[in-house]
Amino acid sequence: MAIVEALETEGSRRRMQVRSPASLEPIGEFECADADQVRAAVERARVAQREWATRSFDERSEMLMRLLDQFVKRQDEIIDAVVAETGKPRTEAIGMEVFSSCDAISYYAKHAKEILAPQKRKLHGVMRLTKSLRVIYQPLGVVGLITPWNGPVVLAATPLVQALMAGNAVVHKPSEVTPLSALVLASLVEGAGFPKHLYQVVQGDGASGAALIESGVDKIAFTGSVATGRKVAEACARRLLPFTLELGGKDAMIVCADADLDRAAHGAVLGSCMNTGHYCCGTERVYVVESVYDAFVEKVVARTKQLRQADCGEFDVGSVFWDPQLDIIESHMADAVAKGARVLVGGGRNSALKGLYFEPTVVTEVDHDMDLMTKETFGPIVAIKKVRDEEEAIRLANDSEYGLSGTVWTTDTERGIEIASRIHTGGVCVNDMTLTYGVPEAPFGGRKNSGLGQVNGPEGLRGYCHAQPIIADRKGKGNIQGGYPYTRKAEDGMQKFIRLLFGTRLARWLS
Ligand code: NAD
Repeated sequence: MAIVEALETEGSRRRMQVRSPASLEPIGEFECADADQVRAAVERARVAQREWATRSFDERSEMLMRLLDQFVKRQDEIIDAVVAETGKPRTEAIGMEVFSSCDAISYYAKHAKEILAPQKRKLHGVMRLTKSLRVIYQPLGVVGLITPWNGPVVLAATPLVQALMAGNAVVHKPSEVTPLSALVLASLVEGAGFPKHLYQVVQGDGASGAALIESGVDKIAFTGSVATGRKVAEACARRLLPFTLELGGKDAMIVCADADLDRAAHGAVLGSCMNTGHYCCGTERVYVVESVYDAFVEKVVARTKQLRQADCGEFDVGSVFWDPQLDIIESHMADAVAKGARVLVGGGRNSALKGLYFEPTVVTEVDHDMDLMTKETFGPIVAIKKVRDEEEAIRLANDSEYGLSGTVWTTDTERGIEIASRIHTGGVCVNDMTLTYGVPEAPFGGRKNSGLGQVNGPEGLRGYCHAQPIIADRKGKGNIQGGYPYTRKAEDGMQKFIRLLFGTRLARWLS
């Protein structure tokens, strides 16, 4: 049974129905916005943005604080919507969607003013004698936000508040799998009293997302799969639109010989199974040094066996969020088992439950000829490989088309940082599961097939702006200007000047 299904169309209007992946019962319907509707939303947003851009950072910050009030007061609305359309445990909805969104809103409300303040930069060389440089951060206009289903609130709220603090309007195309969360977010924004049309949601599938790229927006902030990311990049390139791509991953975990094995085992299970494994920075591959391999596997097995899976009440691992992902998880497991992988816990669908459930799984004897170790699985699976030493672990961690994140586990933090610096990914965490997206000071973004550009942190916030350099005369120094007429005498003078400035080491140092 499909979680998202097209309904009978009325004229040119396309409607879709969404089911809960936990109960398989219908939970909502929506109409897909067509190109005209998307364009109209962008035009409305453009009008709202012009006024919004005139507001001071303090006023924008005040509005974000009101949004924060809405998040805090209306937590249950957010949690209920997320749980209904994803089947994730309430604890994950609270931690990942509500807490992380609140933290991002609070951070950007407090720090955007300082990060986006006009900067005076000192010039070097002779220019500094006569000219001054100021860099100002201008809003881009209307940002098109396209988001996935695995973190339906946090992955929308985090870029949204950055774009708004930078003075932009936002038109958001959420995933067709999680349309309800976007409606709650829109209602929170409205409840906070933001200007009308500054943030609008256009529901729909890939066609509505493609229409958003063609609608006249000034930037696309995309989060989703590698395959869609390529299409988005091509479409943006045709329009010369700036974009960021936050794409899939195949994060490696390296367990060193001196690791705290209890902590590492906990990290492996949480990193692999949290959010049913649908975490872009989830742990997809674990490399364990052979001297601690047996003890580590034993601890991971014991912890995984304790995980509770259910469709209501208190539980640890929820449903797979939609059916195509379940197909991928099952096919990766089948491929691994056919090629010699050993299943120690779980390994298949949890047929005791009605919805889309895959058992928390531990698998060993895995290798890089298996999809489970090379393609994004996005399921609750701890896949563990024994390695000779840390050097082999680093080599295998880097043997991937992805480069989103990763983790290193050792009791020697400095060595952990040294190993982390040799991993070719957007970010790395030492002795914890990947937290980078939740650390707003940190730029976040994948390398290789995991993405283009960085979001979050000062770098991400400035990405919602154009950094405009303004060069002007220094006070009282505006009377020197080279140029016409070109004369032999002036040329000789310039050549002498070049020799004077750059002809000796001392002069180079002084200039
Ligand atoms: P997806 O690529 O299928 O869809 C993402 C969004 O793009 C959806 O809103 C979808 O409707 C839209 N879309 C589809 N076709 C489009 C097109 N041609 N033009 C424009 N938009 C289009 O991804 P998904 O399955 O929703 O999300 C899961 C993926 O997202 C995983 O690969 C995961 O790793 C990745 N992800 C990455 C990050 C990150 O920060 N790097 C975070 C979360 C998820």
